[in-house]
Amino acid sequence: MMLACVSLWLVNVTQAADIKGVRLWRAPDNTRLVFDLSGPIDHKIFQLENPDRLVIDIKQAKLKSAFSELTLSNTPINKVRHGKRNGRDLRVVLDLKTAVRPRSFVLKPNETYGDRLVIDLYDRNVKPVIKSVPQVAITSSGRVGRDIIIAVDAGHGGDDPGAIGYRGVREKDVVLQIARRLHQFFSREPGFKSFLIREGDYYVGLRQRTVIARQRRADLFVSIHADAFKNRRANGASVFALSQRGATSETARWLASRENSSDLIGGVGNVSLSDKDATLAGVLLDLSMTATLTSSLEAGGQVLRNMGQISRLHKRHVEQAGFMVLKSPDIPSILVEAGFITNPIDGQKLATRAHQERVARAVFNGLKKYFYQVPPANTYVAQLKQRGPVAGPTRYVIKRGDTLSEIASRHNVSVSSLRARNNLKADRIRVGQILQIPN
Ligand SMILES: [Zn+2]
Repeated sequence: MMLACVSLWLVNVTQAADIKGVRLWRAPDNTRLVFDLSGPIDHKIFQLENPDRLVIDIKQAKLKSAFSELTLSNTPINKVRHGKRNGRDLRVVLDLKTAVRPRSFVLKPNETYGDRLVIDLYDRNVKPVIKSVPQVAITSSGRVGRDIIIAVDAGHGGDDPGAIGYRGVREKDVVLQIARRLHQFFSREPGFKSFLIREGDYYVGLRQRTVIARQRRADLFVSIHADAFKNRRANGASVFALSQRGATSETARWLASRENSSDLIGGVGNVSLSDKDATLAGVLLDLSMTATLTSSLEAGGQVLRNMGQISRLHKRHVEQAGFMVLKSPDIPSILVEAGFITNPIDGQKLATRAHQERVARAVFNGLKKYFYQVPPANTYVAQLKQRGPVAGPTRYVIKRGDTLSEIASRHNVSVSSLRARNNLKADRIRVGQILQIPN
């Protein structure tokens, strides 16, 4: 009886929590609020209209921090108010400029932060914007080839600082600097184009990072990180591609979801899985995943070789792991660990602009080398490699990223003549399919 009473009391005590601080990040399509807590909490959220408000109720909580320091400009939040409910619960009200799609969840303590309550406010009516269509460059022979597109992903961001290194250097800051520099190198390189998955200090979900890369038709995805390890002596750079096990389980996931998704394999507009039976979809996916993994390992090898010229290497080969961001079945993807931020020597170097630039250049040179060896068809780089005009083919094999209208314009024929010649009823084409080009 005594024991029961004591434990009940303890439970009640542990349930009362203080809000010690509030942090806010604005991303291009959402706003994230993070409440730092003294312990676990119970909470619920709901929306009210006219005017739009989001109510956050937290059981047995006290506010020990002010909302006044939050920068609300450029967010859907007008004002933050709070009050007591039932004498012991905390109610926080966000007065909104516009309705949002809210989501909330709690996070358990990690090495950096204690218990947290995360409120995500997704902007409404914002369709993902495809900011860049493949750009074209005109060669001296007057023929047109598209740019090779690189998705540059700086790991972590916002409330996820990544590893905390030597003298408090944060991984999310270091990798954003490296990513920006890498993006610059590609922007200046003829035949290439790149974009940043995250452009500032905010978090993008791991799955979302691969979605953005696909929406923007990336030819390759590269994620930049800086390792942490308990052993401070661990040092050196690493390059990762997806593990075979990760590839297999991801293929299964795509297959399982193919009926209720419009996901496409082989670049936007190529192969739809939803209209294939399970066996065929499975074969197509396996083919795509295997080819992608081979390309990732080759690209990773080139990057590793270049990293070896500016840094010690942690391993002499491209490692393989089941990292979520590497799981695109159709986009070769690598993850570069620029060094161990927890190692005093690596960490100090990684914090300098000079070394950040060296890392970016090594990744850039490695990827450029890779693409000059195996350029995707119909790119400026592929044309440079061919040197000079080639007799117009009468047969054409569909590559990833191709669309019927692009193929038609490249061969100076109309889409309708292309369709008629190949008995195509719709504009749907698939990778590997052979088209006859009419004269
Ligand atoms: Zn990381």
